[in-house]
Amino acid sequence: MGKLPLMQISWAIALGFLILSLVGQYGGSEPIPYSRFQQLLESGQIAKAVVSGKQIRGDFKEKQANGATSFVTNAVPKDIAAELAAKGVEFSGAPASSGFATLLGWVLPPLLFVGVWIAASRLMGGGKGGGMFGAGGLLSVGQSKAKLVAETDIKVSFDDVAGVDEAKEELHEIVDFLKKPEEFNRLGAHIPRGIMLVGPPGTGKTLLARAVAGEAGVPFFSTNGAEFVEMFVGVGAARVRDLFEQARAKAPCIIFIDELDALGRARGVSPAGGQDEKEQTLNQLLAEMDGFDRSVAVVILAATNRPEILDPALLRAGRFDRQVLVDRPEKQGRVQILKVHLKKMPLAPDVDLEAIAGLTPGFTGADLANLANEAAVRATRRKADSIAMEDFAESVERIVAGLEKRSRVLIPRERRIVAYHEMGHALVAKALPLADPVQKVSIIPRGIAALGYTMQHPMEDRFLMGQEELRTRLAVLMGGRAAETLIGPDVSTGAADDLAKATDIARGMVMRFGMNDGLGPVAWDTEQGRFLGEQGAFWQPRRYSEQTAREIDDAVRTLLREALARAIALLEKNRVALDAGATRLLAEEALTGAELPDVVGEG
Ligand code: ADP
Ligand code: MG
Ligand code: ZN
Repeated sequence: MGKLPLMQISWAIALGFLILSLVGQYGGSEPIPYSRFQQLLESGQIAKAVVSGKQIRGDFKEKQANGATSFVTNAVPKDIAAELAAKGVEFSGAPASSGFATLLGWVLPPLLFVGVWIAASRLMGGGKGGGMFGAGGLLSVGQSKAKLVAETDIKVSFDDVAGVDEAKEELHEIVDFLKKPEEFNRLGAHIPRGIMLVGPPGTGKTLLARAVAGEAGVPFFSTNGAEFVEMFVGVGAARVRDLFEQARAKAPCIIFIDELDALGRARGVSPAGGQDEKEQTLNQLLAEMDGFDRSVAVVILAATNRPEILDPALLRAGRFDRQVLVDRPEKQGRVQILKVHLKKMPLAPDVDLEAIAGLTPGFTGADLANLANEAAVRATRRKADSIAMEDFAESVERIVAGLEKRSRVLIPRERRIVAYHEMGHALVAKALPLADPVQKVSIIPRGIAALGYTMQHPMEDRFLMGQEELRTRLAVLMGGRAAETLIGPDVSTGAADDLAKATDIARGMVMRFGMNDGLGPVAWDTEQGRFLGEQGAFWQPRRYSEQTAREIDDAVRTLLREALARAIALLEKNRVALDAGATRLLAEEALTGAELPDVVGEG
């Protein structure tokens, strides 16, 4: 885009601001003496008054002769006003710091604006100090920040990142590729262009990205999604172009985009309407990734803790088509992470890392680093020459209190419920032959919402599903609630997500797949509009009668009730396995499918 229009726009904004601030001061209100205000008040001509400090603003009941509809006046202390009024003097108040304050009031806003502007143009100009119009100033907005210099000598290695072995394993391949790209190219091997590290904050995503660069010994271009989101349209896109250009020149190397969600939010109708800055930047990023020559050894790593809001286009083949989960560590992982952070700290003989790991379910790597530090600080304050177990115990309590507020750590009673809930899903799945095999059950809080999870691996990629399989799926989804029902006395909110999913499936069975005898085979609902998601909230008239609506509701409810009853019956039959499994899950936090207790099926 041209640079001149940009400046003109900026000037227009500045001018607008100035005018606004002037109008704001004298905002059409008629300044009147306080004595006049008192008279008007007396004769009932004031409709409204707002008092702030000594100033009173308000509206006249009727339009005045000079056209004013509102007034502003400054109050005079009551006793003095009375004296003056008695002598019939016209009097008015003035703000204590009158002249200066008024001046400040209308000089400050535009001044502030210019200040912000200069700061912004400095930033964009890479701090070359050219000022507003100098070579490094606003005129060079198209250029990237100076920060884009690649780090070359990164000392972080995979040894510094613990408890995320699966993620490390996946990234090993990338390290090999970056070390010897020619070799991979010679054989025509396909190396992923973009890899997305997904996981909650503090689990070591940034650390892992740096470790990849450290292990491979390649330059590391580090940016943050938020840095691309600028106030001027076009700047972000230019910055992306620049970044890739520099990276190409330095290949083999890594581009790391932290907090990609700031930039890669699903494109949609922006409140301002039309194509906005973020969208342009995102499109540029996609274009750069698509346009990359496969033989150029540049790997793009990105990190996010909100994969669900990312634009699906980012995840398409050739872009960030590989996702690596960086999850909260399980118990043994926590021991390993503690070892990393305590490597250089003197520990008292009573310190038991296994025991500390046992006290800290739900802690991330960052929480554990924080714990190590707190314990060391405590020991220092005690003037001890090594860190003792009590330092850890106390620090755990403090940190847990903080985390509980953010509801990331479960209290024991909640943990028990979650353990039974997850074991319920897992055992129902294990008992039903049509269910996908259970891969893993965990009560480590994962992601943002889920307190625990049960991971099933589909046996094969599915395009079609039978009615019986869908019913099985419903029963598995109900397994969590079923287990909670069995241990009583109450059920929790933990099943909300399961219920929502199950309801979706049941509605689909009734309304789209014609799987209800009474209502089928009619498509009561078409999938149309569903793809538009939230944005496509077009109201569509219902195309069936009130009577049918009621029947649909009944059919859906029956399906779900049957599924819940089925799950409860199965778990009752396997109560011993449920108790044993939940107890083991509480102790170990995660179990693989092979470790689940044996169960009997239906029949
Ligand atoms: P994220 O990017 O996932 O939010 P970071 O990589 O910024 O997390 O982690 C912050 C700090 O927490 C790291 O610098 C490190 O000290 C510590 N940390 C986090 N995860 C780990 C881990 N898996 N192993 C060792 N230290 C970790
Ligand atoms: Mg990070
Ligand atoms: Zn559940």
